[in-house]
Amino acid sequence: MSNDYYATLGVRRDASQEEIKKAYRRLARELHPDVNPDPETQERFKEINQAYEVLSDAGKRRMYDMGADPFASGGGPAGAGGFGGGFPFSDIMDAFFGSAGAARGPRSRARRGRNATIRVELDLAESAFGTTREIVVDTAVVCDVCQGSGAASGTHPDTCDMCHGRGEVSQVTRSFLGQVMTSRPCPQCGGYGSVIRHPCMECSGEGRVRTRRTIKVRIPAGVEDGTHIQLAGEGEVGPGGGPPGDLFLEIVERPHQIFERRGDDLHCTVQIPMTAAALGTVLSIDTLDGAEAIDVRPGTQAGQVIPLYGKGIQRLNETGRGDLLIHVNVETPTKLDPQQEELLRELSKLRGEERPPGKFSPGQQGFFSRLRDAFNGR
Ligand SMILES: [Zn+2]
Ligand SMILES: [Zn+2]
Repeated sequence: MSNDYYATLGVRRDASQEEIKKAYRRLARELHPDVNPDPETQERFKEINQAYEVLSDAGKRRMYDMGADPFASGGGPAGAGGFGGGFPFSDIMDAFFGSAGAARGPRSRARRGRNATIRVELDLAESAFGTTREIVVDTAVVCDVCQGSGAASGTHPDTCDMCHGRGEVSQVTRSFLGQVMTSRPCPQCGGYGSVIRHPCMECSGEGRVRTRRTIKVRIPAGVEDGTHIQLAGEGEVGPGGGPPGDLFLEIVERPHQIFERRGDDLHCTVQIPMTAAALGTVLSIDTLDGAEAIDVRPGTQAGQVIPLYGKGIQRLNETGRGDLLIHVNVETPTKLDPQQEELLRELSKLRGEERPPGKFSPGQQGFFSRLRDAFNGR
């Protein structure tokens, strides 16, 4: 015999269809001419396709096991050479794009694992600068007793004797239209084409076991409440040794005592006494970068904003940071003792402010007159 197809795919002689398919897909991905264009790899790619064409077909495999090699004499189906011979093209597509689901034949026991979402609480400094977290997840991993096959060690799934591995049974009935052939999933194997007679004790035939895993995750700077971080392939593995789902981290940001976040900017409000607003002062504020001295100019008004540029949150996946905006609130003194009141009266007299007329903002009037004009259609 010219070729050992089992060795080419790296599987045992009693490998199940599923194992053969898995081995083939792994190799096809690795040796595909688009990935690895050198001639030697292309030759190997041709070989694994030949091997798979024979071993994936129950009938051809039986013939081969009895000593016949369909490719031994002719030198392969791709006589013209290169890519595009007789190998099952749909399986190549499957290897790259996943099954379209419309393919006929036995169903795979392997299914993709589910996605999972875990909430991660961060404080403001952690979202601002990024952090590393160890996250504990309850998940499922491949059963290492059966390697995901679900069959007890030393056994393997048997080809179903009702459908002969096809996964479906056909029935020919006569009707007035003539012969009608109908197919339905095989009731004995549930459409898998094989039967697990001795399920693995460790995983009860599911091919995976539940476990607790710790994952170290880097959380980038700039995430915010509700950000989802996708960790591809870190979810649970699927039944029957299927590929893992994804793990999503949902960021929950703990409110900060002083700063309120709006986008990448931080806002806070500081109260200063009227006298400090008039005379100017220096405040100390604990920013995310540490203590900072803030110069409050003499004559600062209530509602004025003092910006600290670049002291906000790091922009996610960008350079630069937002700003820290300090809103100033001026406190008017309420309880004055006789001496303080005397001083203030003195001051108001000096400034000629004993009976101030007050200033009305024209902005409001303008707004109301525009509104009136709008109603009157002017
Ligand atoms: Zn198992
Ligand atoms: Zn069956």
